Amino acid sequence: MIDYHIHTPLCRHAEGKMEDYLEEATRRGLEEVGFADHFPLKMLGVVPEIPVTMEPEELSYYVEKVKELSYRAPVQVKLGIELDYFPGKTEVTAEVLQGLPFDYIIGSVHYINDWDCTHPLYSEEYHKRSLEEVYRDYFALIENACRSGLFDIIAHVDVVKKFGHRVADDVAHDFYRHIAKVFQETNMCLELNTAGWDNKANELYPALELLRECVKKGVGVTAGSDAHAPNQVGRYFDRLEKILKKEGISHLLKFKDRKKSYYPVCSKGE
Ligand code: ZN
Ligand code: FE
Ligand code: FE
Repeated sequence: MIDYHIHTPLCRHAEGKMEDYLEEATRRGLEEVGFADHFPLKMLGVVPEIPVTMEPEELSYYVEKVKELSYRAPVQVKLGIELDYFPGKTEVTAEVLQGLPFDYIIGSVHYINDWDCTHPLYSEEYHKRSLEEVYRDYFALIENACRSGLFDIIAHVDVVKKFGHRVADDVAHDFYRHIAKVFQETNMCLELNTAGWDNKANELYPALELLRECVKKGVGVTAGSDAHAPNQVGRYFDRLEKILKKEGISHLLKFKDRKKSYYPVCSKGE
């Protein structure tokens, strides 16, 4: 299997040495992993209240360190990054990305305007807003992220359910159908993010219904644990593999120099 969403202590809310993440990947028998730590938001002119990303001056260290590890690790190591989408910042984002040797760029939405809707510290805000509006705002940002041309993969596509706040099924389905179409139109890769099982959401990101809509439309998928500690590398991949099998997903996408190729999934012992 591949795990394309691994953080490092540079983001200030993950723990453990990068080497330890790779050791866990090897122990779990993963074939390929990618670091995708949080891109320095200051380079986009965004300064969060609490530091949640690496600093601009750490970016070159990160790039070099991942490259260095990739030469000596017993597992394939790719250089990725998790980068926030902000409306109105597409140009500056494209500029700061120029010349950086990423294998893939994972786009994510954590901010609805200046509210970090994924941070436990600010989760009370869900009770102060109309949930349907939160979902609408959130998925509009996801759509724009897909259309921005900045990203190869979209992370935890329905992370807005993280703290267990859910809109009615029929409302959710409308969002899902629309978002699946956007992924198809923009040829965007959908991340299957297993961290949701450790949140109140207690399921995969995306929800099964959304995954099915995407699969029906031929959207490519990849996998990530969103590990913020070494022992989280490949977390719940047993559950994920069952879902892949059940939904008839035979390939994941992998990336090199921002070009995709297919990775056949075959469960061990079969
Ligand atoms: Zn993080
Ligand atoms: Fe994220
Ligand atoms: Fe992440």
